[in-house]
Amino acid sequence: MTTVIENNSQKSDRLEVGTPLLEVKDLHVEFHTRDGIAKAVNGVNYSVAAGETLAVLGESGSGKSVTAQTIMGILDMPPGKVTQGEILYRGRDMLKMGNEERRKIRGRKIAMIFQDALSSLNPVLSVGYQLGEMFRVHQGASKAEAKAKAVELMDRVRIPAAKQRVNDYPHQFSGGMRQRIMIAMALSLEPDLIIADEPTTALDVTVQAQVMDLLAELQAEYNMGLILITHDLGVVADVADKIAVMYAGRIVETAPVHDLYANPAHPYTKGLLRSIPRLDQKGQELYAIKGLPPNLLKVPAGCAFNPRCDVATDLCRTETPALHHVTDEDGTELTGRRSACHLWKETLHG
Ligand code: SF4
Repeated sequence: MTTVIENNSQKSDRLEVGTPLLEVKDLHVEFHTRDGIAKAVNGVNYSVAAGETLAVLGESGSGKSVTAQTIMGILDMPPGKVTQGEILYRGRDMLKMGNEERRKIRGRKIAMIFQDALSSLNPVLSVGYQLGEMFRVHQGASKAEAKAKAVELMDRVRIPAAKQRVNDYPHQFSGGMRQRIMIAMALSLEPDLIIADEPTTALDVTVQAQVMDLLAELQAEYNMGLILITHDLGVVADVADKIAVMYAGRIVETAPVHDLYANPAHPYTKGLLRSIPRLDQKGQELYAIKGLPPNLLKVPAGCAFNPRCDVATDLCRTETPALHHVTDEDGTELTGRRSACHLWKETLHG
């Protein structure tokens, strides 16, 4: 297959696996509403390196998508407001860049895949036209070149009969195929980093797995960083390197993916793991964490999770636990592992 437009400037620019790509440092984002100030993101820190996948996990309202939208520079401000923090892309703070510089990074260097492909794609334009637009707008490609590139991308994300289907409209594709088109669109300019916000939520389980596998394969091939935002621990087990669990605007646990699954250090993560349906528990009632995530205008004092936590103590109701390193039973710090729980020792080693 021939590449119509070589994107050499970006390819030569690609970072070695493991080089820091994006660092979010002490990010605070608020929403000013008629009823008060909602602290949607409250001191979030995370990073992703080239070739690495970070899964950011949490229920709706945990701040995971607001953090992603702030990274992309697509958060509506107002009502949103970044009050503190840095977002370093290749060492430079994007929050201090002008609009034009941010715009150049968005799509070209950092691309985003959204949950609902049908509403993200324009229903009255063919998918080939929409895929080709990136090349016409960003690289001055002719119509024919852009269409050829669109077919190439559709092939790349394994849409069958791409050449015949390039002029089809979004509604003529299944949900899984539309999500592949979104992935193709995100890949089109060969970004450094893809942020995928619930990319498989609307799909059935088999198609979910296919889309996740495809994302992981393309990420490895292009050596990209990937931030995978999800509420579902089940979908990230095989593809993520590390996980950050968010609750009420804060990160409450971080860990390498297998450590977190094997032995969580936060009761909230424990509850999320128990909520994953398992084949060996067929017929049994599915576990659900009691209660609902807090209203961000009235976050409980102390640990925000305390009203839902089965092991909360008086301390939990008064003092907010910091996100600190956790250790094994001999006191050796566990690499990449942190927990914001007063009872992390009992949770991890109990
Ligand atoms: Fe539960 Fe307390 Fe830990 Fe919060 S700090 S998760 S309330 S035990």
